[in-house]
Amino acid sequence: MPVTAYDLTGRTAFVTGAASGIGRACAVLLAEAGATVHCADLDTHGLDGTAALIKDAGGTARTHPLDVTDRARLGEAVATCARLDVMAAVAGIMHSSPVLETRDEDLDRVLEVNFKGVLYACQAAARSMLASKTPGSIITMASGAVDTGGAGLLCYGAAKAAVVQLTKTLATEMGPHGIRVNAVAPGWIRTPMTERHDVAAQARTEAFMSRMSPLGRVGDPEDIAHAVLHLASDASAFTTGQILRPNGGVAMP
Ligand code: NAD
Repeated sequence: MPVTAYDLTGRTAFVTGAASGIGRACAVLLAEAGATVHCADLDTHGLDGTAALIKDAGGTARTHPLDVTDRARLGEAVATCARLDVMAAVAGIMHSSPVLETRDEDLDRVLEVNFKGVLYACQAAARSMLASKTPGSIITMASGAVDTGGAGLLCYGAAKAAVVQLTKTLATEMGPHGIRVNAVAPGWIRTPMTERHDVAAQARTEAFMSRMSPLGRVGDPEDIAHAVLHLASDASAFTTGQILRPNGGVAMP
């Protein structure tokens, strides 16, 4: 297959969580590959920043300020794409609490954003692709947490495990229509989400994660964007129902 398999000229992509971190890097790289990119997020200011980066790169962006837990609003935004080729459901939040201190409202909120928000994006994308008979690619954002567990990660890990189940189930249901569905499960990536930790704790975590990686470093958002571009493009035409783990080779127990 020629390297032009990564060319997305004439395609349309929709990226949730596009105002920051991994979602922003995905939106910019998909635009650099030639796609018109619809960027959705709660953070209007961040969305404008992403749209400006895409414009500077010579690409085309549309912005949709929205909450991914609002199924109707998300569906309307996806419906503005005449033909949708790629959905990258990236929006998510971090939450950490020990199991014995986890409150119902913590669990509900994390499942609402990190699972239902992804589900709604997948449903809207799949409906659009089915209606237009587009052999599209849907990409969900899981996490290395689904392999490792980890203290404090009950709510976050449960939501991401549900995303993996959604990905495998939808891949099975959409395969006969030529629609592929895959998940990306990043390792530790330096983004505003991970930078919200206090500086000393962040430095310790990054040093630890770097030692765990044969590549000797933590990840950047662009590392994940390239995994997403691969899954979005024709280069992965025979790949569906898979979990891609760009994590620097950190060994999972
Ligand atoms: P980030 O905080 O930089 O970006 C997350 C984006 O999602 C923000 O722009 C935020 O406004 C948006 N968002 C949050 N809730 C939303 C909602 N209800 N509606 C619309 N937008 C909403 O974080 P990031 O590190 O770039 O994380 C992106 C995704 O990658 C998340 O799903 C996260 O769980 C996953 N992930 C991150 C890491 C990491 O180490 N950074 C590792 C594994 C998985």
